[in-house]
Amino acid sequence: QPSRSLTDYRPYWAECFGIAPFLPTSREEMDALGWDSCDVIIVTGDAYVDHPSFGMAVIGRVLEAHGFRVGIIPQPGWQDKTDFKRLGKPNLYFGIAAGNMDSLINHYTADRKVRRDDAYTPDNVAGKRPDRAVIVYSQRCREAFGGVPIVIGSIEASLRRIAHFDYWSDKVRRSILFDAKADMLLYGNAERAIVDLTHRLAAGEKIDAINDIRGTAFSLKMGPPGFRAVDESRLPEDRQERVRLMDGGQDSYIELPAYEQVLADKELYAHASRILHRETNPHNARPLAQRHGDRLLWLNPPPIPLTSEELDWVFEQPYQRVPHPLYGEARIPAYEMIQHSINIMRGCFGGCTFCSITEHEGRIIQSRSEASIIREIEAVRDKSPGFTGVISDLGGPTANMWRLGCKDRETESKCRRLSCVYPGICSNLNTDQMPLVSLYRKASETNGVKKVLIASGLRYDLAVQTPEYVKELVSEHVGGYLKIAPEHTETGPLSKMMKPGIGTYDRFKKLFDQYSKAAGKEQYLIPYFIAGHPGTTDKDMLNLACWLKANGFRADQVQNFYPSPMATATAMYYSTRNPLKRVGRSAEQVSVVRKGRQRRLHKAFLRYHDPENWPLLR
Ligand code: SF4
Repeated sequence: QPSRSLTDYRPYWAECFGIAPFLPTSREEMDALGWDSCDVIIVTGDAYVDHPSFGMAVIGRVLEAHGFRVGIIPQPGWQDKTDFKRLGKPNLYFGIAAGNMDSLINHYTADRKVRRDDAYTPDNVAGKRPDRAVIVYSQRCREAFGGVPIVIGSIEASLRRIAHFDYWSDKVRRSILFDAKADMLLYGNAERAIVDLTHRLAAGEKIDAINDIRGTAFSLKMGPPGFRAVDESRLPEDRQERVRLMDGGQDSYIELPAYEQVLADKELYAHASRILHRETNPHNARPLAQRHGDRLLWLNPPPIPLTSEELDWVFEQPYQRVPHPLYGEARIPAYEMIQHSINIMRGCFGGCTFCSITEHEGRIIQSRSEASIIREIEAVRDKSPGFTGVISDLGGPTANMWRLGCKDRETESKCRRLSCVYPGICSNLNTDQMPLVSLYRKASETNGVKKVLIASGLRYDLAVQTPEYVKELVSEHVGGYLKIAPEHTETGPLSKMMKPGIGTYDRFKKLFDQYSKAAGKEQYLIPYFIAGHPGTTDKDMLNLACWLKANGFRADQVQNFYPSPMATATAMYYSTRNPLKRVGRSAEQVSVVRKGRQRRLHKAFLRYHDPENWPLLR
């Protein structure tokens, strides 16, 4: 399917109702807008904050810009269907989202302990959404209005789109599409898919007949006519492209090992994970299919990244930039954290295996234009309550990938590497961060702005490629401490994380200290490390503790590895195989720390200085 511009649609007739001050959350608000019904109702596990950092606001405002009437049911009571009926029956579909986080990560720590707070809820209160929110909400919507199509999305659906290991139940679960009994699953950033889907449903197409939208998954009885299944496990990987060419590139799909097979066989699980990750480049990915019993889960290739113009358009919808008035004076910590920050890009080409950003947003960086970013800074200055002149972050998934990417479009369109910066920085990668330096300076010169801080995670191996960038960052945009994440010091775990060696950290630290001194500032680097990542031995942790001691670091907080759905490191954790290489019966075994004494021991090494840990460490 060719990429169609996000704005290249004739607006739906309901455009005549105009722009809602807030998308309605009650019948009274709908009445005030003159609506008799909603075209789309979004049910979400987060509080409704009308801000471009919150998924329900982005999707709601984008659909509104296309003329659709969108209602929001935020954090409904899920014990019965009452809350799900409060906006009436939607004309087109229910859109279901767990919120900005997977509901289980929201509820439980890496040690599976229940969290006592929820930053996406008014007053930080826990317990306002169910476990597995997408499944529960879908069921209640069906009970409220049977026959209305159910479209699921958000991180929770996106990262559970194929059969996946679920850390909390300690088993492999089916694709969430089947457990939610949804009609369609949207994965990744869903603007293109949802705009196309909504217009087509509004034009009278049946959801069962819509099967050609990128970034969607749905259930079929068998592969579509004209497509030929390719069993990748029977092909040497260097022949994959040839198979694609033989098939004309368009009419083959990859059949992943079935749910029942990956449930029974860990090697096949790791193999399926490897294939999925190699099919994430939207310019060469093929459709994937995975049998679940007598149904075939079908995944169309990922969405084509948004252009700068399209991304600007998404970010410049008429967001109020505050929580919905229904929350009164209640404080929403996730909102307070981002209310004075600006998201400048999407995507990440780092490929760290414990992180799922690439699986969700893709490896190709989508950057906003400088003019749009400056306009948003002005909007924060003019509209955001409590703004004191400090922009708390100009960033995104990473601080310093804005406008970076492959130098050659054609090379990029053929590439299947999982990272552009591991095992070393690819020679095809443009690493020039001078445009970002210019952006920081322009942002700092905006009227009413006193300071621009950078708080997003810094890719320091990239940063050292442009020393002028490090100088600008360190001299002007660090608030005394800069957190960075080498994650480990030892080659074994670093190679399983796809992170650079600690030597790169040393190079960055040298520049950091040099420029801090030149600026007359006393500033500190705070390195972060992960305990218990697959591939980590007791000796690796001992060596890390020795490095921490030698460098005078005493960590207050430590992170234990958290096996999130669909991450490559989670596949290692579950299968003890390494899907970064071709998986076979003789494939490399990965050491894994699961629970009990060894998991506590690895964590204790990070806080070697705490007397409470000494008995364990001795
Ligand atoms: S060729 Fe290199 S820079 Fe280009 S997409 Fe592939 S890994 Fe990234």
